[in-house]
Parts: sequence; C-alpha cells; structure tokens
Amino acid sequence: MLRLRELSRRVEAVYGEIAETFSDYQQRQGLQCRSGCGECCLAPTIEATVLEMLPLALHLFDQGKAEQTLSDLGQLTQQQSCVFYQKLSFDGKQGQCSIYQHRPSICRMFGAAGYRDKTGQTSLSVCKTIKSDHPAKYQQSVIMLQSSPPPLMMQSKEQVNELDYQLGNRHYPINTALQLALEQVLFKASYSFDQPDQQIA
Ligand code: SF4
Repeated sequence: MLRLRELSRRVEAVYGEIAETFSDYQQRQGLQCRSGCGECCLAPTIEATVLEMLPLALHLFDQGKAEQTLSDLGQLTQQQSCVFYQKLSFDGKQGQCSIYQHRPSICRMFGAAGYRDKTGQTSLSVCKTIKSDHPAKYQQSVIMLQSSPPPLMMQSKEQVNELDYQLGNRHYPINTALQLALEQVLFKASYSFDQPDQQIA
C-alpha cells in the first residue's frame, strides 16, 4: 500500500513541473484560456492512464468517497465527459473542475501544447477559442516555433507514465481510468487493513 502512496507522490511532483512548464509557455506567448471556459472538459474523448488518476483516487479514498464515486461511475451508460466537470452555463461551455488540484496530466496542458507531426517536426496545437481570442499571438507563436518551441504533450505524459509501466502503459477514457484507479486503491486497502499502514497505499 505504501507503494501506491509513494508512486502518487512522485506523480504529483511531475504534475507540478508540467503545470508550470505549460502555464509559462502559454503566458509567455499570450495564449491563455478564456476565463471560465470549460470546453476542453466537455469532450468525451479525453483520455488518461490509471497512473495519471492515482493521486485523485487516493484523495477520494482519504475523503471517504472512493466507494460512492466508484458506484457513480458504474452507473454511466455511455462514454461521456468527465464527471468532475461542473457546468455553469446552459450549453456547458462555461464551467469548472471540481477536483482541480488532483486533475490528470492532460488537463494541465489544455489550451496550447506542442506535438510532433508526421515528419517529426514540432507543431503547435491551440484550441479554437484561444485562436479566435488571440489570432495575432497565435500567428506569432507559429512563426516562433523554432526560437520558442512549445512543450511537447507526449513527452510530458511520458514523464508521468514511465514512473510505473503497469499502471501507465494504457490510455482509457478519463472516467474509466478513474474507475480502474479506484479499484486498485480499494483492492490494496482491503489487503492492508491489518497492517501498520492502514491508510492504504
Ligand atoms: S479532471 Fe477537471 S480539468 Fe480534467 S477534464 Fe475533468 S473537470 Fe476538466
């Protein structure tokens, strides 16, 4: 159980670096998200590994909410957007994350991030809302790809997932990844009940 806690601490340490790296780039280039925008969270295609959801699963366990959350996730009948997104507008485009401190790595890169294109060159991916809010800044960022390259999304995700091959080698829809992470935590907890580390993980 201690192993899961230690692993989670290491994941969170990398999360701190990722958030800073991506936020620095977005601020430097003037590509910040629109205030209150939650469009990225609406997409049911957001994926994460079980490892990326481990800090959140442990947080829910510590709050006594692991079983209830697992049960809620089990009621989902189809792939849908993240259950932790709180819509604040009728169309759902305005909203907020209810577990912001524990969000997985992909959520720390929303907005503007780099990726390798088919030729292996660094390209820039920027959401359509930021592009329309800051068209000149976006153009300038594309021109500056060589002199001011964006941090690479895959590289940052690998930084996390290489911490544990078994939990970090496969991506799932975000709700499924959390479900599997909670199952891991509850399974370990049931075996460590009689041991000194009763807090699990
Ligand atoms: S974890 Fe938070 S930031 Fe990530 S998709 Fe869900 S609501 Fe959005």
